[in-house]
Amino acid sequence: MRLTPLVRRILAPNPSPFTYSGTQTYIVGNGAVAVIDPGPDDPAHLAAIRAALANETVVAICCTHTHRDHSPAAAPLKAATGAEIVGCAPLVLDDKGPRADAAFDRSYAPDRVLADGERLAGEGWTLEAVATPGHTSNHLCFALARECALFTGDHVMGWSTTVVSPPDGDMAAYMESLALLMERDDAIYYPAHGDPVEKPHKLVRGLMGHRRQREGQILRLLGKGTGEIPAMVQHMYRGIDPRLHPAAGRSVLAHLIDLRDRGVVREADDLWALAD
Ligand SMILES: [Zn+2]
Repeated sequence: MRLTPLVRRILAPNPSPFTYSGTQTYIVGNGAVAVIDPGPDDPAHLAAIRAALANETVVAICCTHTHRDHSPAAAPLKAATGAEIVGCAPLVLDDKGPRADAAFDRSYAPDRVLADGERLAGEGWTLEAVATPGHTSNHLCFALARECALFTGDHVMGWSTTVVSPPDGDMAAYMESLALLMERDDAIYYPAHGDPVEKPHKLVRGLMGHRRQREGQILRLLGKGTGEIPAMVQHMYRGIDPRLHPAAGRSVLAHLIDLRDRGVVREADDLWALAD
C-alpha cells in the first residue's frame, strides 16, 4: 500500500491482541530503498516484501527494536537481497540477570548500529536515527526529514498504548522519550502497529497524561493497602481483554519501579507500599 511518493507499507499476517492487525513493514524510497521493521520470519510476509521490491535495490534493512514481531525477517531478507542490517543495537544482557524474555529476537545481528542522530541515505531520502528507549532499551525511531515523518516502531503506536515490561522496558526512559517527541516537529508518525498518526503532539500529550493517570491510580491503590500487582491490574484495567492482563501487570511493575527509584514507594516480597 503506497502512503506517499516515498513511503509504502506492507502488513504482516501476524494479528494478535499485542500486534493489532499485525506488524507493518515500511519501504522508504524508490530505486534504492530502505526497509523498516521487516517483521516476523514468515514466508508469506517475506514473499510480499520481495514482490514489492522486485525492481528496487535494498540499501538497508532497518529495525526499530528486536521484539520478535519486528526483526526476525531481517536475516532472510539480507540473504535474499545482500543489503546490510542497520539500526538498533542487539539487546545488551545485563549483569543483574537476563533482560530479554521470549519476546526478544536473540538472533538479531546488525552490520551497523546507528547511534542517536546518525543517518543513512538513498536516492532522494535520508533516515536519521532517534534514540527512544523505554519500550525496549534499544528502541530507535527513524526520521524521514523530506516528509517531516517519523517511523515510531512501538514507541508510539496508532491503536493502543505501548507495553513497558521490566527489566528491559523502563518507564522513566519511556516518559523521557515521549517528552523528546514533544520537542520535535514531525508532521506525521508511521507506527509499526495501527494507522498513521496525523496529530502527533496531541497523541503524545495524551499518552503522557495517561501514564500520569496510571501512576495516580497506583498511588491511590497503595494508599488503600492494595499492594499486589494482580489486584492492582483488576482495579486499573477493567474491561480489557483478559489476555492482556499479564502485559498490563508488566506496565504496572514498570510504574512501581520508577516510583521506587524516585523514593515514593517500597517493595518487599512482591508486596508494594507507599514509602514512609
Ligand atoms: Zn515491541
